[in-house]
Amino acid sequence: GDVTLERVREHVWEIPKTGDMRVPARVLASKQLLEEIKQDKTLEQITNTTHLPGIKKYAICMPDGHQGYGFPVGGVAAIDAEDGCISPGAVGYDINCGVRMLRTNLTYEEIRGHEQQLVDALFDAIPTGLGGGAVVDNAPVEEILDRGVEWALEAGYGIESDLANCEDEGRRPDADPAAVSQKAKDRGRNQAGSLGSGNHFLEVQRVTDIFREDVAAEFGLERDQIVVLIHCGSRGLGHQVCTDYLREIEQTHQGLLERLPDKELAAAPAGSQLAEQYYGAMCAAINFAWVNRQLIMHETRQVFAEVFDRDWRDMEMELLYDVAHNIAKREEHDIDGEQREVFVHRKGATRAFPAGRPELPETYRGVGQPILLPGSMGAGSYVLRGGENSLSETFGSTAHGAGRLMSRTQAKNEFWGEDVQDDLREQDQIYVKAQSGATVAEEAPGVYKDVDEVVNVSDALGIGDKVARTYPVCNIKG
Ligand code: 5GP
Ligand code: MN
Ligand code: MN
Repeated sequence: GDVTLERVREHVWEIPKTGDMRVPARVLASKQLLEEIKQDKTLEQITNTTHLPGIKKYAICMPDGHQGYGFPVGGVAAIDAEDGCISPGAVGYDINCGVRMLRTNLTYEEIRGHEQQLVDALFDAIPTGLGGGAVVDNAPVEEILDRGVEWALEAGYGIESDLANCEDEGRRPDADPAAVSQKAKDRGRNQAGSLGSGNHFLEVQRVTDIFREDVAAEFGLERDQIVVLIHCGSRGLGHQVCTDYLREIEQTHQGLLERLPDKELAAAPAGSQLAEQYYGAMCAAINFAWVNRQLIMHETRQVFAEVFDRDWRDMEMELLYDVAHNIAKREEHDIDGEQREVFVHRKGATRAFPAGRPELPETYRGVGQPILLPGSMGAGSYVLRGGENSLSETFGSTAHGAGRLMSRTQAKNEFWGEDVQDDLREQDQIYVKAQSGATVAEEAPGVYKDVDEVVNVSDALGIGDKVARTYPVCNIKG
C-alpha cells in the first residue's frame, strides 16, 4: 500500500504513527537508497513492525534494508523485555549470521601470484555448499550450544584472544540447550565448521583505504595489509530453531497474532514460557554460530601456514572482531530519559556500540566497537566503528551490508556464474571459487546496492564511522 514518508532531516525519514501503529517508523537512507527501498515490501514491513506490543521509540530500517520474512533485512526493533514481546521473524532464520575479520601482517605484494593456490587450498579445506562436510564430525553439540567458543578453545581450535575479540566473548550465558529440539541438534551435529551456501563466503581482502588513522591503528589495520572476512551463521541448526518456535508461538499466542498485521511477525509475550524458551534456544544457536566461524577461522590459519610455509602466529593472524547481524539481545537502553531492559532485535543489522559502552572488550572500549560491513565479491567492504550517535538514534546499531537489489530468481536471469567469475578474474584480479555457478550468479556484484552509499549514510549520521575499506583478493562460496 501507499506509505507516507516525512523528511526529518538529511538521511532520516519518518513514517508517522497512524491507526494501530504503536510508534512511528524511521528509514535511514539517502534519496537514491530510499528509491531502492521503495521497490519491494520493506516500507510496509517496517510499518507492520510498529504494531508489536512494547516496541519503543520507533522501528528502524537501515540504509541497506530490503524485504525479508515478516520483518525487513536491515531492520531494528527495541521491544520492552518486561511487558513487550520477542519475535523470531525479527531475528531471522539464520540465527547469528554474522561476520568476523582475521588480520594478518602480510601485504598484497607478498601474496600476489599465489591467489589461485590460496583460493584452491581454502576451497579444499573449508566445507562449503548445501551438502556435507564439517571441520568437526559428530561434534558435541550440547556442549557447543552451552559453552560456545570456550568449548572450541579447550578442544584446540583457537587461542585465548579469540574470546575477547568476539561479541559477548563468544558465549551467551543465557543459552538453554534443553530448549533446542533434537531435530535441530541433529541438523547441527555434522555442520560444525562449514560455510553453507548462497550468500555465505570467505574472502581474502586487501586494505585499500584508511579513513581514520587513529582508530585504524587501534584496530591493527593499515593500507595494503591482507585480511580475511568470514560470513556465515548457524546452518541448519539455527534454521530449525526458528522454524520450531515460529510454529509453536503461532499456535500458543494466537490472540497476540490476530492483532498483528502480518502472521510472519508472530511473537511471544515477554515473560511467557515460550518467550523464555525461544530466548534460551536462540542464545544456544548463537553459540553454535560463533563456534562455526571459529572453526572456519582455525582452518584458515592452517591453510595460510601451508600455502606460505610459515607459522600462522608469525603472520599475526589474530581475530580483529566477530559481530553478529541476526540476533535479539536483552540490553539496557535510555528510552525517554529512563533506563529500560529491551529485547533489541537486529535482523540484518549490526551492533554499533560507541566508545565507553561496558560490553566492549578493553582493547576497543576507548575507540568504539569494530563493525564489519561486507559489500560484494566485486566491490569494497568496510570496517567501521560504533559512532557517538548510535545509542540515541538506533539503539546502538547500523547497517550489515550493501543489501540486495534483486531476488535470487531475478539474479539468475540477469547473470551467468562462469561469466561473472571470468570477468572478476580478468578485469579485477579477483579469484572466486564456488560449489555452484548458480550461487555466483545469485551473488554477483550487480545484485547488491552501492556499499559506499550505504556506508556514507551510516557515517554521516554518526552511527557507524568509516575506518577502513577493503577490496577482494579471492573468495570461496557455497
Ligand atoms: P546477508 O547476511 O544479508 O546475506 O549478507 C550480508 C551482506 O554481505 C550483503 O548485503 C552483501 O552486501 C554482502 N555480500 C554478499 N556476498 C558477498 C561476497 O561474496 N563478498 C563480500 N565482500 N560481501 C558479500
Ligand atoms: Mn546467513
Ligand atoms: Mn548474514
